[in-house]
Amino acid sequence: MIRLLDQATVNKIAAGEVIERPAAVVKELTENAIDAGATAITIEIKEGGLSFIRITDNGGGIAKDEIKLAFERHSTSKIKSAEDLLHVKSLGFRGEALSSIAAVAQVELVTKVPGEMIGCRYVTEGGVEKNIEEIGCPDGTTFVVRNLFYNTPARRKFLKSAMTEAGYINDIVERLAVSHAGLSFKFIHNNQLKLGTSGNGNLKDIIYHIYGRDIAAGLLETDREQQGISIKGYIGKPVVSRGNRNFMNYFINGRYIKSKLINKALEDAYKPYSMQHRYPFTSLSFEVDPELIDVNVHPSKMELRFTSQETVYNFTKQAVEDTLRGKELIEEALVSAEKPMPIKTSVLKILPPEPFEIHRIERQSVTKAQDRRPPEFEPVIVKESPEQYHAVEQMTLFDDRLLSKKSASSHRIIGQLFRTYWIVEFESNMYMIDQHAAHEKVLYEKLMASLQNKEFSSQLLEPPIILSLSMREEQIVKEHISVLNTLGFEIEPFGGREYSVRGIPGDLLGIAQKELLIELIDSLTDEGPGGSAQMILEKAASMSCKAAIKANHAMSQEEARAMIGSLLELENPYHCPHGRPVIISMSKYEIEKKFKRVL
Ligand code: ADP
Ligand code: MG
Repeated sequence: MIRLLDQATVNKIAAGEVIERPAAVVKELTENAIDAGATAITIEIKEGGLSFIRITDNGGGIAKDEIKLAFERHSTSKIKSAEDLLHVKSLGFRGEALSSIAAVAQVELVTKVPGEMIGCRYVTEGGVEKNIEEIGCPDGTTFVVRNLFYNTPARRKFLKSAMTEAGYINDIVERLAVSHAGLSFKFIHNNQLKLGTSGNGNLKDIIYHIYGRDIAAGLLETDREQQGISIKGYIGKPVVSRGNRNFMNYFINGRYIKSKLINKALEDAYKPYSMQHRYPFTSLSFEVDPELIDVNVHPSKMELRFTSQETVYNFTKQAVEDTLRGKELIEEALVSAEKPMPIKTSVLKILPPEPFEIHRIERQSVTKAQDRRPPEFEPVIVKESPEQYHAVEQMTLFDDRLLSKKSASSHRIIGQLFRTYWIVEFESNMYMIDQHAAHEKVLYEKLMASLQNKEFSSQLLEPPIILSLSMREEQIVKEHISVLNTLGFEIEPFGGREYSVRGIPGDLLGIAQKELLIELIDSLTDEGPGGSAQMILEKAASMSCKAAIKANHAMSQEEARAMIGSLLELENPYHCPHGRPVIISMSKYEIEKKFKRVL
């Protein structure tokens, strides 16, 4: 039987899309406060927002006779018709938030329009009105949201720990504060003040507060404008970089957005100064003529479409390039920005059998003799384009037993190429071994073997390393502190959001560097609190080995021979801990084919 759903059910379904977690409630209600012209906003939560969320503002309030309407689905004061969508300046306009939140929580609203004598209190539960009364109260609006998802247990189950949910809310509040430096924000979690901004418009103060001293000390100011678009804010000097894009933030007309186009423009501008897989710090506010963007994408997706992609890309890249060029950059960033050689696995690629692939290893040994013969059927035509080559050259060559102890004596080490690759001749193949990857792999495997089943020890650092952490990083450290301690990290609060690292795991000396420790902490962001000791250990070990290798460039033939020797004792020598290939190979036949000696 087909039937129309009642409004309460419709709202509950819609709530599922708009309100995924407590952070969405905070975002929607705080954006409403901003839209209402508030200059001071307090955000208070308890237990990660699960039991209690309060947003208080000093904005325009809601008139008594409009309260019920505001809680209807698709009710908004911000647009009147589809044409208005082209000029939206407010953060909201869909009229979905209040109805959605009310459907899945107990909501209390207290509000007064400035100039009115009396305000109003309105209470709903699961979208059903419980009470409405006149009440004396200050100008502005307070929303209290209790027991979110109390009537949708399935959704509640999907939430993470209170600490993680609080982390998401923290991110939202930080972004709102950074993108509205002219408004005063207060964020309170479990009765503790977590963030307080003055609203004096000084973005640098806010950045200092949120991201810590080190980042605030390495900022460059960007301010540029052209027809229809402007950009204002701060970018980090190239030395201030991170291993992921978490610190690459920007806002468009006050909205936190993720855009591949802008990411690319920013990263391209930094390219000459930074290492691969390092991302800059940015905190930039774009003002774009609303006619040039389409804001009408799903509210929970932080995307946005530009009508002129090229203009936005060029403008952004140029602004950042000019900022970077204009200032004196810290020398070490330029010098140490040695780019790892890109490895062209597309041209020479091996797919070695994994140790467990016994059948494949055997099959290859059997068919080996056949493989060597030039094909008797159609001659292979060697084409010019490299794309054409690699179809022919994909090899699975580890049946050649390069890495068996027996054959070690017949390796002929030809020499080193580009100070990075060792070329080895063995039987009828040429092998190229990536010195860094190989060395790293050997170290890593040894380290992991020695760490297995071993009591962790701690090595004291003198002097200790002082980390100045962002709020989020501090939270990650707190979440993982007991695991980190077990592994041998000794981390202690050092006042404010600075932490001193007095000890590191005994075998991981390589990681005793400020940048690496921060990178390790950042890498735990995506793991959540479930990150196991083993995972942290593997990460730390792999970073430590990488660091150890970087420091060690030169390698003699003898050392190379020893390294290849150690490599062949490993169970899986084919890939480095980061998944890059360690060895690639090319057969003599392949080479001769290229020179057209054979067809
Ligand atoms: P939207 O923000 O898309 O308009 P909402 O459901 O979030 O939709 O809010 C509905 C309406 O309620 C808003 O258009 C606004 O008129 C009113 N409103 C909500 N929050 C506030 C607030 N804090 N102060 C003043 N008015 C508010
Ligand atoms: Mg809204």
